[in-house]
Amino acid sequence: MPLLDPEPGKLRPRRTEGPAADRVPDERASGTPDTLRADLVRLLGADKVLHALSDLVKYASDASPYRFVPQVVVIAEDVDDVAAVLRYAREHRRAVVFRAAGTSLNGQAQGTDILVDVRRHWTGLDVLDGGRRARIGPGTTVGRANIALSRYGRLMGPDPASSSACTVGGVVANNASGMTAGVTRNSYRLLSSLTLVLPSGTVVDTAAPDADERLRKAEPELAAGLPALKAEIEADPALVARIRAKYELKNTNGYRLDAFLDGSTPVEILRGLMVGSQGTLVFTKFVTALTGPVTEVTLPPGGHTDWEVELVVVLGKEGRHVSEADAWSHVAGLTVGQDISERVLQMDGPAPQFSLGKSYPGFAPTGPWLVTPDEFDDPDDLELTCAVNGEEMQRGRSRQLVFSVPALIARLSGVLPLFPGDLIFTGTPAGVGLGRTPQRWLTAGDELVSSIEGIGELRQRFSG
Ligand SMILES: Cc1cc2nc3c(=O)[nH]c(=O)nc-3n(C[C@H](O)[C@H](O)[C@H](O)COP(=O)(O)OP(=O)(O)OC[C@H]3O[C@@H](n4cnc5c(N)ncnc54)[C@H](O)[C@@H]3O)c2cc1C
Repeated sequence: MPLLDPEPGKLRPRRTEGPAADRVPDERASGTPDTLRADLVRLLGADKVLHALSDLVKYASDASPYRFVPQVVVIAEDVDDVAAVLRYAREHRRAVVFRAAGTSLNGQAQGTDILVDVRRHWTGLDVLDGGRRARIGPGTTVGRANIALSRYGRLMGPDPASSSACTVGGVVANNASGMTAGVTRNSYRLLSSLTLVLPSGTVVDTAAPDADERLRKAEPELAAGLPALKAEIEADPALVARIRAKYELKNTNGYRLDAFLDGSTPVEILRGLMVGSQGTLVFTKFVTALTGPVTEVTLPPGGHTDWEVELVVVLGKEGRHVSEADAWSHVAGLTVGQDISERVLQMDGPAPQFSLGKSYPGFAPTGPWLVTPDEFDDPDDLELTCAVNGEEMQRGRSRQLVFSVPALIARLSGVLPLFPGDLIFTGTPAGVGLGRTPQRWLTAGDELVSSIEGIGELRQRFSG
C-alpha cells in the first residue's frame, strides 16, 4: 500500500448505528426557549445571548465527566451584566452558573439553566506597589498572571497543575490549590479584596472605605446576619477550636468557615466566604431509616441525637437532567420529614459519615400526608417548625433554603436518574441541637413534634 494511503476502516473500525446516547432530545432542537431568549436579549442586547443549540452543546461539557446542557449562555461583559442576570434569575426563580475556563473536575462550572461566561471579557492585570499587589481580572489565567508578576520576582500563591488554562476567578471560587500552596499561599491568604455581585444584584467592592455602610443599606439582613453567625460560633469554644484545626490542614473543601473568626466586619467576613464559594453538600439517608409519622425511636447508646425538620419532596415521574424550570412538574407531592442525626458518628473519622449518622432505624420519619404542589399558594414558601417537649427549637420558611426544590432536583437529576417515589430531604432552619449554646441532644422520654404549614405534623417519642 502506498505510504499515507488512507484506510478509513482502520480509523473507524465499528459502524455507528442510530443517534449517539448523549444526543440532545428533539424538543430542544430550537435552542433557548423563546421567552427566556427574548427576556435576556431585552436585558443585555442580542450579541451577549447565545441561544443556538450548537452553542448550548458547546458549553454543556467542561473538564469534568458530567454533561449538563444549559438553556442559554450569556457572555457577560461587565459587572452590570452579571448584576442584571442575577436580578432576573432571582425574580424568575431561575438558576445561574458561572463558567470561566471550565477546568473544574466535579461539574461546578455546568448547569441546566442560565450559564454565564465570565472569561472572555474579564482578562487584565494591573501591577501595583512594585509587584507587591496586583488587580487581576477574574478571567485572567493563573499562568498569564504569573508571567506578568515574574518580572517583579513575584508569583501567585495557588499553583494548580491547570494553571495555563484556569482563571483567577475560577481558582478563588473553587478554593483551588496546588502542590506548594499549603495553608499559607492559598486563595484565602492571597486575596486582599474583591468586587462581588450578590444574588440580588447588589455589587460590593470590599476595598471601598464605606463598603460596610453600603452593605448595611443595600442588604440589611445579610449585614446583620453575618456578625450574628460570628457571635454564635465564637460563643462556642469547642466549635472555634474545631474550625481552627480544620484550616491548619490543607482544606480545599466547602466554605471557609474560618472567615467568621478572621473577619471583624460583615464585609471582611463576606470577602473570606467568597473563597470556595461553590458547592452543594448532598448525602443519603438509607431507606431502612424510613418510617411513618408517629413513632418511637431508640436512641443509639453514647450518641448525640439531634433534630432537623425538613420539607421532603416526593418524586412523581422519572427524570434525568431535569431543568429547574421543569422541576416542579416532576414532583408528586410534599410531605414533612425529620432528618434525625446522631452527630458523634456523623462527624467521626477522617471523612464525615453523614449517611451513616443519619440512617439509624427510625431516623427518617415522614408524613402525615402527601400534599400535591397545586394545593399551596406558593409551594416554595412554607413555614416549618419543630419543638422538643413543647419548647420551640426551629421555625423558618422554605423560601430561605440555600438550594430551592427546583435547584436540588436539577442538581441531583444531572448526576443520577430520579424515580417515582424517590424522596429528597431538603434543608433545615436554624435551631438544631448542634448549633445551640450549650448544645442540646435528645434524651429518653423526649417528644419531638415537627410540622409544616398545609401538610401536618410528625410526632416522635425517644427511648434509651
Ligand atoms: C489538568 C487539571 C489539573 C488541575 N490541577 C489542580 C491542582 O493542582 N489543584 C487544584 O486545587 N485544582 C486543580 N484542578 C481543578 C481546579 O479546580 C481548576 O483548575 C480551577 O480551580 C478551575 O478554574 P477555572 O477557571 O477553570 O474555573 P471553572 O471550572 O470555569 O469554574 C470554577 C467554579 O468557579 C465558579 N466561577 C468561575 N469564575 C467565577 C467568577 N468570576 N465569579 C464567581 N464564580 C466563578 C464557577 O461557577 C465554578 O463553580 C485541575 C484541573 C485540571 C483539569
